[in-house]
Amino acid sequence: MTREELLRLDRAHVWHPFTQAQTAPEPLPVVSANGAVLVEEGGREILDLISSWWVNLHGHAHPAIADAIADQARRLEQVIFAGFTHEPAVRLSARLAQILPGGLDKVFFSDNGSTAVEVALKAALQVFRNRGETDRTRFLAFDGGYHGDTVGAMSAGVSSKFFEAWQEMLFPVDILPVPATWMGDAEVEAREAEALAALDRHLEANGRHTAAAIVEPLVQGASGMRMHRPEFLRAVVERLRAHGVLVIFDEVMTGFGRTGALFACLGAGVAPDFICLSKGLTAGFLPMSLTVTTTAIHDAFLGDSLDRAFLHGHSFTANPLGCAAALASLDLLLADDCTQARARIEAFHRAALADLGGHPLVTRPRVQGTIAAFDVPVAAGEGGYASAVGPRLKESFARDGLLIRPLGNVVYLLPPYCVTDAQLTRAWEGISRALSSLS
Ligand SMILES: *Cc1c(COP(=O)(O)O)cnc(C)c1O
Repeated sequence: MTREELLRLDRAHVWHPFTQAQTAPEPLPVVSANGAVLVEEGGREILDLISSWWVNLHGHAHPAIADAIADQARRLEQVIFAGFTHEPAVRLSARLAQILPGGLDKVFFSDNGSTAVEVALKAALQVFRNRGETDRTRFLAFDGGYHGDTVGAMSAGVSSKFFEAWQEMLFPVDILPVPATWMGDAEVEAREAEALAALDRHLEANGRHTAAAIVEPLVQGASGMRMHRPEFLRAVVERLRAHGVLVIFDEVMTGFGRTGALFACLGAGVAPDFICLSKGLTAGFLPMSLTVTTTAIHDAFLGDSLDRAFLHGHSFTANPLGCAAALASLDLLLADDCTQARARIEAFHRAALADLGGHPLVTRPRVQGTIAAFDVPVAAGEGGYASAVGPRLKESFARDGLLIRPLGNVVYLLPPYCVTDAQLTRAWEGISRALSSLS
């Protein structure tokens, strides 16, 4: 198919996500990929510095994962998961139970980050119902949290401001502040104390009616790579527990080494009651997600009657190909060279941001593991996801053959772990050029 033909058919028949088709540039046809490099139709190369919407852990088309999927596809591609089980799902669950914080040992499968969140919210509500505590029906979430695009996930992520069109279908969720911080932030402790005081007041009044709280630990992704300190996260969890509120960590983005430690909860030294995992789970090969919880919560669903059970499931639950991809990805993730690569990327980010120190268009520089971000200052009221700065930066990145996709006025890198120093050099040089194009 020629490029012209492909784009004509795309315009005629394809509806792209998060895209205003009237004003967006034409989509770029990609024909293959390797490592951190996407190859466009015609042979032009684009360096993928955001792991293709944060999913691609080890680089594109990794042969070990491709082989694992192909082998599995020849043996068992899919089977109904009610009344049946299979080795890839069992091995993946057992392996995750070993590397997640102690106690998280029951794995529920679904297909994407949003459904992993829905499962946690639904299970949290039902666990109290099953225990006869029917007055725990409220949910708590944090300002700037994003949890996906299905109705429950939108309700929990209402403060991310992506959901104006659907206000009428959302259920009420209590939203509390998170003190985002950055390098050289002198006032973080005062802001943390304020946020914790607000949480205390809220829990005093509503704690006993609250089933669960959902949080993106250490880094709030979609609302602009907003980072908070592990000290704050630990203080939040301690308060929630004191009021019997279940804790859901949405690690859809932060999981699988993204923030340095294997999971943000391990890095912060705190264990939730539910952890939601997706994005990096299959290293970007197949859509799959997990909601992992404790035996105590799982066992609250046991009983003689079906209505105590968790009556939720999806057609492709625990797809064996996804499980095979996830197992192969874990092999790569747990190898020493991956740990070293993540540390190398973090050190590179820190040095690059230090070099940009004092640049008038670089504020609030921040790094958490392999994620680096900063804000481009904009006039009051011109920030946020719709900021005009984003498209202008994106044009410059596109000219340089870089896939970097600012979140409004927030520039960030979230590369696959195979990214080389030479590629990171190109990325940060491209950022400098993009900033120059603004002034
Ligand atoms: C992307 C994301 C989701 C939603 O995942 P989908 O697979 O896009 O449904 C949920 N939570 C967080 C933190 C995310 O980054």
